[in-house]
Amino acid sequence: MKYPIARPYITSKEKKLVLEVLNSDSLSIGPKYQEFEAKFAKKIGTKYACAVSSGTAGLHLAMIAAGIKEGDEVITSPFSFIASANVCLYVGAKPVFVDIDPITYNMDPKKIEAKINKKTKAILVVHIFGQSSDMGPIMKIAQKYKLKIIEDACESILATHKGKKVGTFGESAVFAFYPNKQMTTGEGGMIVTNNKKIYELCCSLRNQGRSPNMQWLDHKYLGYNYRMDEMSAALGIAQLEKLDFMVEQRQKICLSYSKYFNKHPNLVQIPETIKGNIHTWFVYVLRIKNAKIKRDDIMKGLYNIGIATKPYLPSIHLFDFYRKKFKYRLGDFPISEAVSRSAIALPLYIGLKAQDIKYISDKVVDIIKKHDKRI
Ligand SMILES: *Cc1c(COP(=O)(O)O)cnc(C)c1O
Repeated sequence: MKYPIARPYITSKEKKLVLEVLNSDSLSIGPKYQEFEAKFAKKIGTKYACAVSSGTAGLHLAMIAAGIKEGDEVITSPFSFIASANVCLYVGAKPVFVDIDPITYNMDPKKIEAKINKKTKAILVVHIFGQSSDMGPIMKIAQKYKLKIIEDACESILATHKGKKVGTFGESAVFAFYPNKQMTTGEGGMIVTNNKKIYELCCSLRNQGRSPNMQWLDHKYLGYNYRMDEMSAALGIAQLEKLDFMVEQRQKICLSYSKYFNKHPNLVQIPETIKGNIHTWFVYVLRIKNAKIKRDDIMKGLYNIGIATKPYLPSIHLFDFYRKKFKYRLGDFPISEAVSRSAIALPLYIGLKAQDIKYISDKVVDIIKKHDKRI
């Protein structure tokens, strides 16, 4: 594929640090993951950070540490990567979806209160595509009903809401480092918190339920192997050093895309950043305006000329498993569904040049126009 949808940005620094680990004797539980954690916590501005094997693993532990269990309900977004809803099920809780805002694609705070009942224990806030959720009203609702806030910040590292970074609002928050995210460790994730108890519990649970002072084969809790290995941590340290640069590059590319697509308001709806927010662009997602155009036809047309795209994101409640378990149906969350039907993520990675962005944008417009005429 000439233009993949995403591509990690790896330089000689990453290779050097990973090689250092490979030449040492510590491939896991060595010095690197602790260095990565300390630097990461500093970058986000939390007291603690606990490195884990994936974003999903981090969210699972954050749910356990929040005390969410069988029979509880957790309010969250249907417009997310499936992991944020699945982790509710991992602990026996029910994910209760709230439809999204049509501009930011994040949970609409106005629709939250109607979903709260005695079983509701927490709001799992997802910051989608690199933009913060509307945290002001969400925090107020959480306070009013004494609900915990856990942030799925996996797509939104360094994003802010009114000057405050995502990941610093909830009792805990989770970031992810899969290769398509703003920074990568291969596989990996990070739980951040200011709460020492949550931090210590998460550190124990990722390591088979051991306490820091325990013997290797002694276990206090039912734990997991959710540890991050040293190669991944070394990669993370190098990536963290260039994170500001990488985010700036993403912002530049997305601005250029928007400049082109702004000229075609009748064909596409471009992503919008709410005033006062910093948007860190996990993906650049357009919506096709004409609902009669089949989005998948556009994607196919682009694929055929070497431009990869993705239907970001399907609505979670319509996956087979969720339909069967919770009787969800088409029409339950109409805004989420409308975005799911019309959204298309374009190639976004460091190395895309001005002429690439122009080429991709021209082709997207051409193909949509062609389909528009046929209808
Ligand atoms: C990437 C992502 C995750 C999970 O991350 P993994 O590291 O792939 O487990 C969770 N939630 C959202 C919204 C994500 O985009």
